[in-house]
Amino acid sequence: MSNIRVRIAPSPTGNLHVGTARAALFNYLFAKHHGGTFILRIEDTDLERSDKKYEQNIFEGLQWLGIDPDEGPEQGGLYGPYRQTERTAKYEEYIQRLLDAGKAFYCFHGEGEMRETQPAAYAPHRCDEYRNLTHDEGQAIKEAKDKEYGKNTGQYVIRFKTPIGEKIMFTDMVREELSFDSNLLGDFAIAKDTTIPLYHLAVVVDDIEMKISHVIRGEDHIPNTPKHVLLFRAFGVEPPHFAHLPLILGPDRSKLSKRHGAMSVTDYREQGYLPEALFNFLALLGWNPGDDREILTKDELIAAFSLEKVQKSGAIFDFQKLDWMNGEYIRRKPLSELAELATPFLEKSGLLQFSIFNFQFSKKEYIERIIALEQSRLKKLSEIGERVEYFFKPPVYAKELLHWKNMGDAELLASLERAEKIIGELEQDSSREVIEKTFLDAIGEGDKGSLLWPLRVALSGKKASPGPFEIMAILGIEESLKRIKAAQAALTVD
Ligand SMILES: [Zn+2]
Repeated sequence: MSNIRVRIAPSPTGNLHVGTARAALFNYLFAKHHGGTFILRIEDTDLERSDKKYEQNIFEGLQWLGIDPDEGPEQGGLYGPYRQTERTAKYEEYIQRLLDAGKAFYCFHGEGEMRETQPAAYAPHRCDEYRNLTHDEGQAIKEAKDKEYGKNTGQYVIRFKTPIGEKIMFTDMVREELSFDSNLLGDFAIAKDTTIPLYHLAVVVDDIEMKISHVIRGEDHIPNTPKHVLLFRAFGVEPPHFAHLPLILGPDRSKLSKRHGAMSVTDYREQGYLPEALFNFLALLGWNPGDDREILTKDELIAAFSLEKVQKSGAIFDFQKLDWMNGEYIRRKPLSELAELATPFLEKSGLLQFSIFNFQFSKKEYIERIIALEQSRLKKLSEIGERVEYFFKPPVYAKELLHWKNMGDAELLASLERAEKIIGELEQDSSREVIEKTFLDAIGEGDKGSLLWPLRVALSGKKASPGPFEIMAILGIEESLKRIKAAQAALTVD
């Protein structure tokens, strides 16, 4: 193993978001490309919003995508525990170090007072009143407040003593040199008390303790990075390398949000996207292999990945491209595997409760034959039920659909009768080839459409479906004849 160590640190406050999954994927590809270690850390310090069910969803989503952490809450590892709520003692030690060194201080400006002295709601707070107190002076006020109001009642926060008038520079592997004016950061809060760390402190302590070498995350974290750089330096540790990934945008180029479509990996799974397709798609959100390949296996992605090829401009989440890509992966699946993947979707559509029509096939074989018919057109597995329902229950006919061009009812009935006659010559278990040949021989030089269109609609009830020979070979001759009768009956009503 190389000493490249990367991590993602999601909060279990919702299902695994596609943006988080993209960040996980880039970290994973980078680690695997370099023979390094990919770490999952759960940032569950927001006790009110964190939920074990979301943590579970994150584990399952990553596993489903094939992004397996080398270290994490489930995998364990040398630098655990991997949940922030289990790391309080570490944070306390680091916060105390900063307080003792005079690099952090207690600020006693309550929220109300902050609002008065700093009208701009989010203006950084440089705490001139308290930042220069000695350690003992600050401690004395803190103890008095604790005595008067009780501990952790919001009477103070611990702030980092941000150096004044300094340029904070760091190299971003995607964006090159970035520079920030320390005066714009203010004395940012790092903890509510020594036992209650806030985000910036916890993330830096974890990254130090877990020996993170590269921080790869979304560009919305860029404003946090100078604060993290200051904290690393305050602890006497060289900051890791940073790489900020471009924002994910919707097709209209605004930031990807719910109104654009599904946001969680679970949603995509339930819509019948294949994990390999989503993996491939997410890998190309802001990165490309430097050539025109778009379909790449996991191993090919690992081999080709480099942070240098991550783009700076926003990455558009193109839903049509995802559908296309998913279709490509569906076509590449071995039939028996695809049938197995599709079966839960058939079940969900309520179709498997119906008995199959053709007794010569087992249910498994029947489903495989149906999936084989759809494999070349299917874009996602959730479409399957609607597309193939006529293989499980008799169609309901829209009368006008049966008409080929401007056929009249009499012509139509004659056409169906002719089809019925031809089918009557066939054996129950005739293959598609035999059915096709029988029909083409019967048609000879005649018009195909006027015979085959009404027949196909009589079999499927659908405007679009595979051809009549393919359908008959699966339904069997007996059921096919029944349907022609039913279509004839539908036509002769009123
Ligand atoms: Zn203050």
